[in-house]
Amino acid sequence: MWELALLMAIAPGIPKDLAEQRARQIGNLRYELELDVPAARTQPIQGRARISYDLQDSTLPVVLDFAPGARNLLRASSEYREENGHLIFAPGTNRIELDFRLGDAPLNRNDEFFYSLFVPARAHHAIPCFDQPDLKARLKVTVRAPQGWQILTNASPGQETKPLPSYLWFFAAGKFSVETDGKMRLFHRETDRAKVERNKAEIFRLHAQALDWMERYTGIPYPFEKLDFMALPSFQFGGMEHAGAISYKSPSLFLEQSATQAQQLGRASVIAHETAHMWFGDLVTMRWFSDVWLKEVFANFMAAKIVNPSFPTLNHDLRFYLNHYRSAYNVDRTRGTNPIRQPLDNLNEAGSLYGPIIYQKSPIVMKQLEQMLGEEPFRDGLRRYLTRFSYGNATWDELIGIFGPDLSQWSRLWIDTPGRPKVTKVQRYDGFTLPGGYGEYHLDAPSRAYLLANLPRITDPLVRAQAWDALWEDRADLFELALRAIPVEKEELLLQRMLTDLGRLMWRHPRDLDRVEAMLSAALSRAPNRGVKAAFWQLYRSVAPPARLERLFSGQENIPDLPFAETDFIAIAHELGLRGIDVRPAMRQRITNPDRREQFDFVSGALDGDGGAWFARLRDPQARAREPWVLEGLALLFHPRRAAANEKFLAPALELLPEVQRTGDIFFPQRWAQVILESYRTLTAAALVRQVLPSYNERLQRTLLVAADDLLWAVSNARQRRP
Ligand SMILES: [Zn+2]
Repeated sequence: MWELALLMAIAPGIPKDLAEQRARQIGNLRYELELDVPAARTQPIQGRARISYDLQDSTLPVVLDFAPGARNLLRASSEYREENGHLIFAPGTNRIELDFRLGDAPLNRNDEFFYSLFVPARAHHAIPCFDQPDLKARLKVTVRAPQGWQILTNASPGQETKPLPSYLWFFAAGKFSVETDGKMRLFHRETDRAKVERNKAEIFRLHAQALDWMERYTGIPYPFEKLDFMALPSFQFGGMEHAGAISYKSPSLFLEQSATQAQQLGRASVIAHETAHMWFGDLVTMRWFSDVWLKEVFANFMAAKIVNPSFPTLNHDLRFYLNHYRSAYNVDRTRGTNPIRQPLDNLNEAGSLYGPIIYQKSPIVMKQLEQMLGEEPFRDGLRRYLTRFSYGNATWDELIGIFGPDLSQWSRLWIDTPGRPKVTKVQRYDGFTLPGGYGEYHLDAPSRAYLLANLPRITDPLVRAQAWDALWEDRADLFELALRAIPVEKEELLLQRMLTDLGRLMWRHPRDLDRVEAMLSAALSRAPNRGVKAAFWQLYRSVAPPARLERLFSGQENIPDLPFAETDFIAIAHELGLRGIDVRPAMRQRITNPDRREQFDFVSGALDGDGGAWFARLRDPQARAREPWVLEGLALLFHPRRAAANEKFLAPALELLPEVQRTGDIFFPQRWAQVILESYRTLTAAALVRQVLPSYNERLQRTLLVAADDLLWAVSNARQRRP
């Protein structure tokens, strides 16, 4: 036995000092896992783990992570002590065998299927393991599931994986259809066969193209044994790069016939992003999640390079601009912003590192670095980095060491400092010239007046987009400009941005909604192609007269050359519900896919009465498990049409946020905060935010400050303007 009294208490989660100690202590790690999956989702999944490793240090106890704790351990091969979600074994223990019941928290169990989602450090909420990114392990998994269920894991049955960090492990089993193309397989639960047939070839082609591109760019062949992917009905993210078994949200792969160019592009981008991760993140992994931005920036950066050839008619500079600058600025101008690289003491807080600073600002900064170094030296540096650290881990500092020139000062400024460089020289139009890069720009009064009057006349679409964003950034009211600019905007990507903005602005001009309706109705009938038509339709339906919505719903009327998909009818049903017309029973009958019917039942419950009963159920973490459904329902609950009456739910929704952060997946807290605050510009809402803020932890305070930025700004500005 070892001396218990000498051990310091080990905190819950994965503290950094524990992780560093274990990285030195443990090597050559292997897991053999056997999982017995029952048909009933209420029955626990039984597991057996054989964990073996080399010990570099036999004086320290061996600390394994298992949040479900000893009461879910059925048998252990050696003696252990339990502490705060850790199992502590005697020094010198170099092989552990455990029988256990898996924790369900990260297993997303449904009646007919389950799938794991372990990022950033949730593997140990299901399975006993060393849950940190720099203890990569070879994994051999056997899953026994009910008859007729399909099984997907990182490697083929019986095969051992390449070394993988625990956040990339993936297990799923259930009733899935499987499409095959050469060596790749697509698992899904889509029952609309026509939709599958329409999309599957393109889904495989986009993966093959991304693989091919990555192999040529990196000079390294695809680093894992196989590549399959799974489309999940209510997946928490657009996609997740589980090595050899990528998961996607089903609608990000299966597009409707009426898909806009932006949706086509979105699909190509998410596929390229997840495929690029097989090298950036999966082959070479950050040592600690403080460098999580590194895998994300390269995945995004590569994705942008990969999708360009598929959309030759597209203005890619414009696309890069639209996809990155606005979102990054939305965070970076607020008090809630953070540097690209953030310190992190415990992996149980890693979820809060993710956001637009990682996904949108860092690609802008990386583009800057590529321009500084030159495309070829940049690529060659990445090749050396991927080769040197293959199947291992590396930090940002190790990468910039490889690039050669001393980048430490540049890195301090861009990677470790939050915010934007202030550009004091005000650009005027004529004229308004391109802002010179990432920074804080302010328009002077004449430029602002000029742009509000003349924006549609700017010929270069990128300058037009920057001018639009500059006005938005200055919080100019773009409502009147939008009504004039949208009907004449020829660039689909920019049109999409303007429509999104108008969709937010128009509710602040309730007396003018009929003007919006008239403009969109005319634009809808004149749209030059289906993608543009779909873009107009998606905003039009929120202002359309209910009588017309009813005709469209019943099929008495249709929109020429815009075939409606099930999702369009569901959207109409919700729009009618928001106007007090209940067509839900009719809608429900039309939905044949069981997952989507369940989703519809859940989401449209937010339209029952004032939505209060639906909202009250969200106190139960189980009711919040399907995060995309919850967000859809919250959008209905706090829809601008109901915002005034439902402001009473804002306080409890804010009070739930810390709980949502504790139990939810990565993006859930920020999306929750955004969707509940989106409609509000009231003093009472602002007062609520200020009141609840001090009770939050520091990271959640930042999340709230970002989500509430427009609200707090609007309220303080209104106060200043008051005589
Ligand atoms: Zn990613």
